[in-house]
Amino acid sequence: MVRSRRIALFIEDDNVANRLAVHILQPAGYQVERLNGEAELQARLQNDLPSALIVDDSLAPKTMRSLIKDFPTLPIVFYLKKAHSDAIIQRYQDGFQAVLTDQDDQVQALLAINRAVQRQEDWQRWFQFEQKRHAQSLEKRVADLERLHRIGGKISASLNLDHVLSEVVMAAVELTDAEEGNLMLLDKESGNLILRAAHSVGEQKTHILRVPIYDTLLGEVLRTQKAVILGGGELTKIQTAFLVRALIYVPLIMGEQSIGVLGIYNREREQAFSEYHQMLLEALADYAAIAIQNAHYYTANERERQKLHTILTNVRDGVLVLDEEQRILLINAACLQAFGLQEQYCLGKPIEQVISNQDLILMLKQSPSQWIKGGEIRLEDGRIWNCQLTPIADVGLAVTMHDITHLKELDRVKSEFVSAVSHDLRSPLTAILGYTELIGRVGPLNERQQEFVKRVQASVQGITTLISDLLDLGRIEAGLDARKELIDIRPLLRQSLESFTNFLNEKAQQLVVEISPSTPPVWGNPVRLQQMIANLVSNAIKYTPKGGKLGVRAWQEDGQLILQVWDTGVGIPPAEQPYIFDKFYRASNLPDDTSGTGLGLTIVKSIVEDHQGRIWVESTLGQGTTFTIVLPAAELGELPKPPA
Ligand code: ADP
Repeated sequence: MVRSRRIALFIEDDNVANRLAVHILQPAGYQVERLNGEAELQARLQNDLPSALIVDDSLAPKTMRSLIKDFPTLPIVFYLKKAHSDAIIQRYQDGFQAVLTDQDDQVQALLAINRAVQRQEDWQRWFQFEQKRHAQSLEKRVADLERLHRIGGKISASLNLDHVLSEVVMAAVELTDAEEGNLMLLDKESGNLILRAAHSVGEQKTHILRVPIYDTLLGEVLRTQKAVILGGGELTKIQTAFLVRALIYVPLIMGEQSIGVLGIYNREREQAFSEYHQMLLEALADYAAIAIQNAHYYTANERERQKLHTILTNVRDGVLVLDEEQRILLINAACLQAFGLQEQYCLGKPIEQVISNQDLILMLKQSPSQWIKGGEIRLEDGRIWNCQLTPIADVGLAVTMHDITHLKELDRVKSEFVSAVSHDLRSPLTAILGYTELIGRVGPLNERQQEFVKRVQASVQGITTLISDLLDLGRIEAGLDARKELIDIRPLLRQSLESFTNFLNEKAQQLVVEISPSTPPVWGNPVRLQQMIANLVSNAIKYTPKGGKLGVRAWQEDGQLILQVWDTGVGIPPAEQPYIFDKFYRASNLPDDTSGTGLGLTIVKSIVEDHQGRIWVESTLGQGTTFTIVLPAAELGELPKPPA
């Protein structure tokens, strides 16, 4: 809708006002409004301005001056009742746009008014145009900054280095309206800058792929850490076969170090870049440096993670990692195969839901203090795995499983062989022993002969002990002592200890017995339990010097029987303690002539395990040794009634 032009009249004389309105203005299409009095005039000018204002000298000179000053774009025309050239000039000098007089004919008057109105309209158009131009430039800057912020966020969030680099270059070209952009990163090894990403709006392609940093503009930017703007017009050769008209290079700085250069170019266009463009580019370079650093760290981390994952997945041992709620965090191929599982159905699930192997589940249910022991599990296909459980802070638990089927098999074959051989040796040995005893009866022996016979007997005795130890071990390991009864361990202990009285007296050793009345009964094999106690006590006597002290303690704790045999003897070197339960192992700190087979503790351990118990040793060299056995207690109500 075109707004009609309105002319305001501040004319005192009605005739003049009428003439102007009816004969000149209205026929020319102007709307006319008459204003009476200064108050009405001021009020009118507070709203939108008329196209022109015509006043006569009824308006106070002071008001006239302030109108001209306050409304520079409002054309104010003065109506002079009497045409007088000095007066006309004076009015123009006062700043009126035009001066009408009673002498003017209608055409002249209209022309003057039209000119004034036209002038105002020109002003207004120019003014609006300028306003728009400024607003547009401001809007563009705001848009640029918003875009920069958006791109910054996007690239900071990206962890793929190549992606980050090409996003940065593309953003640089778009933000600065450049023809071309590229990003070069410093290769520390070669000392060259290497092109990592490029983007061009037109057909051209960046040819620089590798630039030495010395004696080049890029190198200078990198060294000085200062941006460079070249520009506008003349073609400049910055590299062989690389001519540009304008460019900006900004350094990419990480911490204190330059890591590369971001550049934009105009090759065809003569348009130069401004400091504003440089500012945008520098901001982008800051974002880029952070994003590159993040991406570097991430890539390095990811590579390490992958490497570790590949190793863990491909080792032949089973590896299982659980979180603190025993949900599966990692399960490797060997484990998946052993339990017949698929990875996607395992991850994140509680182990009990996924793995049905009860050996493993029971082991995991033990208290963490027992995890250290690990244990064996039997798989459905008959294989036996040795499991080690390692708590990992802030993660949970790592379970490593090693296939020991072949070792178990070897052990079984060896035990069978030893049992068979021992059995076959027993009869000839008994015969030898029998005949050595008969020798003296069939004729007198001299002293040396008696001495030799004694030695033969001692040796045969040694071999017999060894053989019966081996046979016992074979029986226990083969599970031939499965029959168990409810046993009150207290009388059993006392009975066993009594049989050592002579040995204790011989070595003048003191035995301290502390058997708590609360000592609970256990399910067990009385012969084997006695053998277990006897082996430990005889060791304590054997490995404690004359006059030393040793003891036995028994009590109840957490529904378990705790049994300790301690001494103040030679002790066991720390490095050898893990091996003393192995067959035939004897510690290195014993004098050469100490009698023994190295089978006693192996038998003890087998008995303990056959009774679902645990045994461990604590020992300080030269100070003494304590063996602790924990056996599950039987219910008190199950105690056998004393014979009637
Ligand atoms: P051995 O017949 O040699 O006593 P064992 O199996 O009973 O065989 O013990 C294995 C080894 O453990 C011994 O040779 C000895 O080195 C060490 N040992 C066992 N008990 C004690 C103890 N009470 N004090 C010191 N060392 C011991």
